[in-house]
Amino acid sequence: MHVSMRTSKPISVNIEQIDYALYDTLFLDRDGVINVLRPGDYVKSWDEFIFREGILEYLAQWNRRFKHIVIVTNQRGVGRGRMSQEDLSAVHDKMLEVITLHGGRIDRIYACTAVEDSDECRKPNIGMALAAKRDFPDIEFSRSLMIGDSPSDELFARRVGMSFFYIE
Ligand SMILES: [Mg+2]
Repeated sequence: MHVSMRTSKPISVNIEQIDYALYDTLFLDRDGVINVLRPGDYVKSWDEFIFREGILEYLAQWNRRFKHIVIVTNQRGVGRGRMSQEDLSAVHDKMLEVITLHGGRIDRIYACTAVEDSDECRKPNIGMALAAKRDFPDIEFSRSLMIGDSPSDELFARRVGMSFFYIE
C-alpha cells in the first residue's frame, strides 16, 4: 500500500509526563489525537486522514508500555449519512496498517455512530468504556489512562474512574 506521512502541527503537550507505572490500559480518542481534526467535517475517506505529527512514534512506544490499547471514537458522520460504515471501516483498516508498519498496536476500535447525544455509546456517555471492559475483562478503569482532546473525553474518563491526559 501507499504510505504517506502527511502530518500537521506536532503534539504540543509533554506526553513524557505520563507515569506509566500507574497504568496498563490506554484509551485513545481518534480525531484530534491520532489524526488531524477537520473542523466542521468528518474524515470520510483515507484521503482526508492525516496523522498528527509524532503520534506514530508514540504509538510504537505505547505498544511496549500498555497491555491494552483501544480507540474510543464518536463518528456520527455515519449516523448522519455523510459517510457509510464501510467508509469508516476502510479508513480504520488503513490507519491500523500504517500504525502496525510503524511498530504500534491498537487492540480494538470502538466507534459510536449514533447521532443523538443521549445515546449510551456516544461520549461522554460511557458505553464504549463498558464495551471494552466486556471484551477485555481484565481492564481496570483505575489502571486506565484516557488521552483525548475534548471536554467530553475527559468527562467520559472521569465517569468511569480513568485518569485523563489532555492533548492539545
Ligand atoms: Mg477528539
